[in-house]
Amino acid sequence: MSDQNDRAAWLKGPGAECSIKPGPRRRPRRFVLLGAPGVGKGTQAELLSARLGACQLSTGDIFRAAKSIQVCERSPALNTALDAMKKGELVTDGTVLDMVGERVGCLRCCGGFLLDGFPRTVAQAEALHALLKQEQITLDAVLSYELPLDTIIARLSGRRTCATCKAVYHLQSKPSKVEGTCDACKGALIQREDDRPESVKVRMAAYADSTAPLTDYYERQGLLVRIAAEGTPEAIYQRSLETLAARAGLSLDAYRGAT
Ligand code: AMP
Repeated sequence: MSDQNDRAAWLKGPGAECSIKPGPRRRPRRFVLLGAPGVGKGTQAELLSARLGACQLSTGDIFRAAKSIQVCERSPALNTALDAMKKGELVTDGTVLDMVGERVGCLRCCGGFLLDGFPRTVAQAEALHALLKQEQITLDAVLSYELPLDTIIARLSGRRTCATCKAVYHLQSKPSKVEGTCDACKGALIQREDDRPESVKVRMAAYADSTAPLTDYYERQGLLVRIAAEGTPEAIYQRSLETLAARAGLSLDAYRGAT
């Protein structure tokens, strides 16, 4: 669904209409996705969204979409949020929760949802819990994509991005044909500043401080499903589905068909 639906109500706010209104489903899927930078959570969100038909609701995407709003038309809170984002810092809980609160219609949507990048702190998780309770909505599960720190650092520090067309390569797992040159447009391949090993360690420390405690929070609620994020995106997706089906006591086919 996400490859067709423009998610206008999520990205632009409740005044905007989505291009596709999902019909009622037998069983809308409602998940939260957790994972450190570099585990491939965004790719899994896209696969789950396309195949299980629930919208990928990423708070980072709202901020990226808001960058195109003229500075003079942005609220002071939005300007502060975009400044924080530029520095790699978390946006304040208050601003994030106001934004999600305005979009509660997306949580109610009969197509279901995959929350990606929200909640990111325990305070946000508690606020989400209250919001869902008020709407009488329950989460199916919280998927936590996990990899050893060394693997994450190797993944991120081997990543190279084309300065011109933004295509992504990897020194070991997806090298370009000519070293340092993009296969598609011949642009120069560069390493993003925040993919350098020193920066990756800082990002991981920020994740460990504010977001990792969420796994304990959801474990206590019996919602946490840990998934090893090793292998190809397809293998990780299959592992996710098998784990969810086993948890629901269903066969893989029955789980896929139960939407
Ligand atoms: P993402 O695409 O999820 O990595 O988000 C990009 C940036 O947006 C983050 O580095 C934060 O600055 C900001 N952001 C997105 N979601 C949140 C959130 N739930 N809480 C705080 N900041 C967020």
